[in-house]
Amino acid sequence: MAGVGGEVVTTAAEIESYRRDRAHDPNVGTPIAVVLAESTADVQAAVRWAALHGVVVVTRGAGTGLSGGSSAIDGGIVISTERMRAHSIDVQTRVAVVQPGLLNAEVKAFAGEHGLWYPPDPASFEICSIGGNVATNAGGLCCVKYGVTADYVLGMEVVLSDGRAVRFGGPLVKDVAGLSLLKLFVGSEGTLGIITEITLRLLPAQPAPRTVVGWFSSTEEAAAAILEIASRLRPSMLEYLDRTSINAVEDMLGLGLDRGAAALVVARSDMQGAGDPEIPTMLDALLRHGATSAFECADAAEGERYAHARRMVIPAVELQGSLMLEDVGVSITRLPELVAGVERIAAAHDVTIAFIAHAGDGNTHPLVVFDPADQDLTARATLAYGEVMDLALELGGTITGEHGVGRLKRPWLVNQIGVDVLEISQRIKDALDPAGLFSPGVIFEGTTARNPKELS
Ligand SMILES: Cc1cc2nc3c(=O)[nH]c(=O)nc-3n(C[C@H](O)[C@H](O)[C@H](O)COP(=O)(O)OP(=O)(O)OC[C@H]3O[C@@H](n4cnc5c(N)ncnc54)[C@H](O)[C@@H]3O)c2cc1C
Repeated sequence: MAGVGGEVVTTAAEIESYRRDRAHDPNVGTPIAVVLAESTADVQAAVRWAALHGVVVVTRGAGTGLSGGSSAIDGGIVISTERMRAHSIDVQTRVAVVQPGLLNAEVKAFAGEHGLWYPPDPASFEICSIGGNVATNAGGLCCVKYGVTADYVLGMEVVLSDGRAVRFGGPLVKDVAGLSLLKLFVGSEGTLGIITEITLRLLPAQPAPRTVVGWFSSTEEAAAAILEIASRLRPSMLEYLDRTSINAVEDMLGLGLDRGAAALVVARSDMQGAGDPEIPTMLDALLRHGATSAFECADAAEGERYAHARRMVIPAVELQGSLMLEDVGVSITRLPELVAGVERIAAAHDVTIAFIAHAGDGNTHPLVVFDPADQDLTARATLAYGEVMDLALELGGTITGEHGVGRLKRPWLVNQIGVDVLEISQRIKDALDPAGLFSPGVIFEGTTARNPKELS
């Protein structure tokens, strides 16, 4: 790969850890090389080389994605952004400029050093990259009050499929010049270009939150309590765990959670002052909807223990088997129907489905457990996985609230957005990436790049 900057690794052993993300896509391929880019120029050189040779490109942040978006492709290359870590901050305007390889937690930490806050907080915030967050429009726990990644992206630099680096947006909070191409690239999952720099809006430091916990013997009652809290308040976190999730975390961490409970609701308020009306309202809603116990955590450490329990559910359930990870979302008014429907689907197919949710914004993660060595179980789990997405669509919802379509949810996309919108999307993809160089099979169909000679 003459002329390609950054380190280029090509041995099977070195490549192995760049092949798959956390969705464990069974059809993952083997790339011919991984480019460990350190600069925009390195990314441009790698893209130009790939375009010249008709080799497909998969962009990889930290590989924590849950939809197979950074699965490698046979014969392609992977461009990793993990070494692109430069960052700067303008405290006066509360704007940060970061390269994509920085972890979300590192962005939060350096903003925090200046008394500022970068809110979006995927449960994976300690291990996922900010570039991956922008490319998937990641959500998280505080997004119910503070919004998702897109709400904090003011600008970005992107390397296009012809190797040009272009800038969308900039440091201004208000800037409506031209079409909103910036928003097009947020959530584009590596299919339109490679994000090499991001300009982020920061907020003043978040006030210390207070945490409320409710235990339930009925999942329907827990869902009803969540609906009431969300409709009366703007909590800064409103999360849900079912019995399977609670027990998986308890097996892994031994936090003293109630193994017999059907559901756990964790809510937070970051309104300031002793007269905060949110805490009593949350407790009232939890108890009136049948919580067997509801209380405010004694201190920040206890509150963080419950938030940590919620964040650790995916790794904990992964200890029980392989997962097909759902990311379905519904209007919060339909949450009780989704909870009940997923329980019906699990029973009908005799599979375990752990259920967690960023419940305050209706975004849920049913986790279908299976064993790839057990063909019958895998077939039943696959049916259940599809039926959960069908159910979400029947309820007027979405097949993905924050993880992206990737490769694994692509077959269901047309059922949600329809043929016309899919066709318009494909035309945008073709205009920006005529050779189909970037991540074929993600969002759009495809496995290989078109021959560059056919395009000229
Ligand atoms: C335990 C656990 C909990 C999670 N919780 C949440 C959660 O609460 N909320 C949430 O939203 N997600 C969550 N995720 C999913 C995942 O962490 C996010 O999707 C995250 O944004 C992915 O970042 P990454 O750096 O790992 O990206 P990767 O997995 O490397 O890539 C994800 C996608 O983005 C593309 N991409 C990456 N970097 C770039 C770039 N610079 N330019 C263009 N395209 C790029 C890739 O090609 C791929 O399509 C969780 C994951 C795990 C393992």
